[in-house]
Amino acid sequence: MSPASGLPPLRRLVLPGLFVAALFAVFFFRQPGRPTGGDEWVFSGQTMGTTYTVKVVPGDHDESEREHLAATIQRVVDGVDQTMSTYISDSEVRNFNRHGTDPCEASQDMVAVVEEAQRVARLTRGAFDITVGPLVDLWGFGPSGSTPPPDAEALRALVAVTGFEQIEVNPETRVLRKARSDCRIDLSAIAKGFAVDRVAESLDERGYKRYMVEVGGEVRAHGRKANGEVWRIGIERPDSTGRSLHLALPLADLSLATSGDYRNFVIRDGVRVSHTIDPRTGYPISHNLASVSVIHASCMTADALATALEVLGPEEGVALAERHDIPALFLIREDEETYREVRTRVWTALTENTPQSAAVG
Ligand code: FAD
Repeated sequence: MSPASGLPPLRRLVLPGLFVAALFAVFFFRQPGRPTGGDEWVFSGQTMGTTYTVKVVPGDHDESEREHLAATIQRVVDGVDQTMSTYISDSEVRNFNRHGTDPCEASQDMVAVVEEAQRVARLTRGAFDITVGPLVDLWGFGPSGSTPPPDAEALRALVAVTGFEQIEVNPETRVLRKARSDCRIDLSAIAKGFAVDRVAESLDERGYKRYMVEVGGEVRAHGRKANGEVWRIGIERPDSTGRSLHLALPLADLSLATSGDYRNFVIRDGVRVSHTIDPRTGYPISHNLASVSVIHASCMTADALATALEVLGPEEGVALAERHDIPALFLIREDEETYREVRTRVWTALTENTPQSAAVG
């Protein structure tokens, strides 16, 4: 097992988040001409087993609103946590997982996330699948933490009952339904992106126009920084030791999400075991795609697509992203030190032809 795998679940996952936050901090402070003092309000804290950072240019807003905004942001992320966590025993997700096959009334947030999850599942032919919950637990990446490697029989049995088609969602009646009572959902690959969108919405509603919201590495940036520059978001080099930037992407009025196999994994018998599961086989992914970053207007969508492309791997993932015009950047591991980068056509067009195009990296 890697050093990371020996940690209890919360700590194991907070650490990567803390690193992402540190990376942001280092990166922003290195920017020439960055204003000091109160030109940007910075809010940070913990949620969902990871960290968040929100930077806001207050504009005409009075300093007295700062504290209120801090409380609003914490309330929004905590609300998503309470609804969608598999780590909180009375969360809406856990209640739904305990529910039988009868229709189950759901909150608007839950319906929105499950609906989008199902759309991405159909688009990726089941590579993204929120019914992976039991498989995630079986491999030791769920709330119960580390477990012995599962035996092939147990895996086969679980794969047979896994499948996004088990979940029905009706946005009009706000009802969810599962086909089998033992089906359990896990929104870990989409809910952080949703939390970013919800924080951004609450900033929009209060009239803030220039901000950067980051939850556990998923980001949305709007307008420009206090010094007039475009927000720049770091994409890490996908190695577990180097902790350096692959590039710094200027991002304007869009979201960026990244999925990878390089932070959350264990080593078993000398083999890297990723927390990203291929629902079609029940096994963690084992190809050489180290990370995928996706740009999208919605951070929730970017988050889900990044995981789906990570599951699909370097050939199928790139092909699907090209076919559906998904702006995606793939880092493919050649060996432990070397990566090959593949950008989809639309990623290149978007990052070269918008205000965010100013020299990347
Ligand atoms: P992503 O690629 O975004 O997601 C990978 C995760 O999605 C996997 O860990 C698995 O759970 C799931 N998954 C795997 N394969 C698939 C697939 N094929 N399709 C769909 N989903 C898949 N962690 C803690 O340690 N303690 C907590 O208290 C805690 N609370 C959380 C509360 C919420 C609401 C959420 C969303 C997550 C929470 N987490 C918690 C988990 C953690 O913060 C991250 O969400 C997790 O590490 C995955 O994020 P990622 O960006 O690394 O990977």
